[in-house]
Amino acid sequence: MSRPRIVVVGSGFGGLTTVRHLERRIPEGAADIALVAPHDYMLYSPLLPQVASGLLTPQSVAMSVHRLTRRTRFVPGYAVGVDTRERTLVVRRPTGELAPCPYDRLVLAPGGLTREFDIPGLTEHAYGAKTLAEAVLLRDHVLSQLELANDSKDPQEREERCRFVVVGGGYTGVETAASLMRLCQEAARRYPELRSVIRWHLVDIAPKVLPELGDRLGRKALDLLRDLGIEVTLKVSVREVTADKVVLTDGRALPCRTLIWTAGVSPSPLMETVGRPTLRGRLEVGADLSVPGLPDVFAIGDAAAVPDLSSDDSAYCPPTAQYAGRQAATAAQNVVNSILGRPLREFRHKDLGLVVDLSGSDALARVLRFDLSGLPALGVTRGYHLMSVPSSTARARIVANWGIRALTGGETSRLGFADNGRPSSFVANERVDYLDPEAAQKEGARLLENERARHGG
Ligand SMILES: Cc1cc2nc3c(=O)[nH]c(=O)nc-3n(C[C@H](O)[C@H](O)[C@H](O)COP(=O)(O)OP(=O)(O)OC[C@H]3O[C@@H](n4cnc5c(N)ncnc54)[C@H](O)[C@@H]3O)c2cc1C
Repeated sequence: MSRPRIVVVGSGFGGLTTVRHLERRIPEGAADIALVAPHDYMLYSPLLPQVASGLLTPQSVAMSVHRLTRRTRFVPGYAVGVDTRERTLVVRRPTGELAPCPYDRLVLAPGGLTREFDIPGLTEHAYGAKTLAEAVLLRDHVLSQLELANDSKDPQEREERCRFVVVGGGYTGVETAASLMRLCQEAARRYPELRSVIRWHLVDIAPKVLPELGDRLGRKALDLLRDLGIEVTLKVSVREVTADKVVLTDGRALPCRTLIWTAGVSPSPLMETVGRPTLRGRLEVGADLSVPGLPDVFAIGDAAAVPDLSSDDSAYCPPTAQYAGRQAATAAQNVVNSILGRPLREFRHKDLGLVVDLSGSDALARVLRFDLSGLPALGVTRGYHLMSVPSSTARARIVANWGIRALTGGETSRLGFADNGRPSSFVANERVDYLDPEAAQKEGARLLENERARHGG
């Protein structure tokens, strides 16, 4: 292979980190590296709730691919199929047309989508909190509900607009509920009449919130949420959603116009197009991160089922940023090793813990099994994020935003993103048409043939 073509899918924790490791390990000119992703930034999602509350600007959590890579070709679009016979990725470009992207080595890191459930009304009415656009829109939506409630004399409408239900007691749900509750508290300074009407609910079918934090910190999280004024209901889910109410499985019907859905992530449908075994949608890989039977294809991150060799408790690595970023280093090394014909390394990582920012000065952290709360946890949480963001520009933006908030307080003006009624639901936001494995093989071969005919080769 004179100049191997390495294609990486996804510009998130797994994909972008892989590309950066490849650039470091491969001498200039020795390989072509391409990164296929719909956006030319890596979203630092752990800080997304702080964008939803307006504490951080969207740019602070969007790490520019162009700043962070030097010689990687960025291919805009969604990979919608993998033709493993022709070793070609099928990419849907932003214009809608399909284009081939041939590879000698492929690393799949497309992450996941907000998990859907078969609940009447959910796909039409629920708001997501997973993408940058959703976070920005959520802030505007919540503020507009308060504005409209303040302007209304109808007590029923006021109640509906001032009640917010978050589903999901994981870090996304807990941090989103806490940050937006504080945003409401700040905004309510302008609307004294609404203070007693604003209600936030956090609902989860599980018996506890943040199970990853262990029992003691989990109980602490529950106390902090309740102290903040959030009503937490466990062992309960949603039965039905309409434009003006949420019906829970315990029979309660809550007058409400805002349901925020954070109940899990399902792996990218791209993984099913490979035509190899998946585990609840995650593509199964070996401990060396390669797909069994496809030595040229590697998969990492939320969309890959990676055996967890360091844990006695779980068979597969958890879908977290911490694991995706570390798997990227092994994937890059193994891509290089496989090109050079060297043995592949196994992925091994011991979980470092979890940090949860409940906004204000409340935080919780479990670091190497040490439990922290209060200011020490806040210091660790913020320090961890600052160390983890890959860009010094973004780091500077984040520190500046936190500093400005500490000095000047919060900003509660609406920016106008939710002016045209409700934004589209998370399902519409994340919808991409993927090919099935058979169509991917056909499409890959057809596109390659066209390309060869056009370029005479
Ligand atoms: C609000 C929120 C808070 C979180 N907080 C934490 C936390 O505190 N700690 C923690 O460890 N984890 C946290 N996570 C989880 C963490 O973000 C994920 O585990 C991590 O992002 C997974 O990395 P990944 O590379 O697999 O996927 P991602 O980082 O999601 O990246 C996937 C990339 O692939 C792109 N993509 C998607 N489909 C395609 C396609 N078909 N073709 C090409 N590109 C595609 C996406 O645009 C994106 O660039 C949080 C997640 C959310 C949403």
